[in-house]
Amino acid sequence: MATIKCRCGSVCIDFPANKELFRHECCCHDCISALWYATKRGGPKYPGNLCADCCWLPNDFRVVTGEDKLGAFLNHESADTTRFYCKTCWTVLFGDHPFYEKRILVSQVAAYKEFEGLTNVVRMEPQARHFLKNLDEEQIAALPPWPGDPSNVYQGAAENLLEHFPTMKAAGGEGTAMNAQILLDKVGGAFVPTDEARLSTGPPSLMRQTAVQATA
Ligand SMILES: [Zn+2]
Ligand SMILES: [Zn+2]
Repeated sequence: MATIKCRCGSVCIDFPANKELFRHECCCHDCISALWYATKRGGPKYPGNLCADCCWLPNDFRVVTGEDKLGAFLNHESADTTRFYCKTCWTVLFGDHPFYEKRILVSQVAAYKEFEGLTNVVRMEPQARHFLKNLDEEQIAALPPWPGDPSNVYQGAAENLLEHFPTMKAAGGEGTAMNAQILLDKVGGAFVPTDEARLSTGPPSLMRQTAVQATA
């Protein structure tokens, strides 16, 4: 039973999964700027090395505690990723995207180093590191060494992640009692911060870049 907790301990969410569906590291502008924004609002420190540890889980969970503390935000008006967070401590808990087809979710709570947000789950080795093209040379040089196969470091979207999506979706699930869509409704939808230009500037989102890649 994978468990996600926020820094302040208000929110605890259980997933019916003993192991993650996939693991990779994301350097994309969307993820990093969202985590940066949450840190700015008082949340735990975002990964200073600019790659976020991503744990993929089914879209099926139980909010054990803190449902009233949950909120959701989009980086900007036309952003694709809905990110759920704790309104008390600004921990970003997990994200949803239309491309996940209500079957899977991605949590970057394990990217936070100041507390253990992800427990009770067997983790695999990171399978890819992607979107290096969103970083400058200095930022790339500052990344921790990639321990795996160098061919799994991608400038754009990780091919092995995209290849695994159908398998991940099949192994995931759409919770009937609770899932990201039900939760979004319960929290009254996602808000769009208007106080930080960094959220709406920068390169196109991951999936848009992927779409461009696919048609190139
Ligand atoms: Zn919290
Ligand atoms: Zn990302």
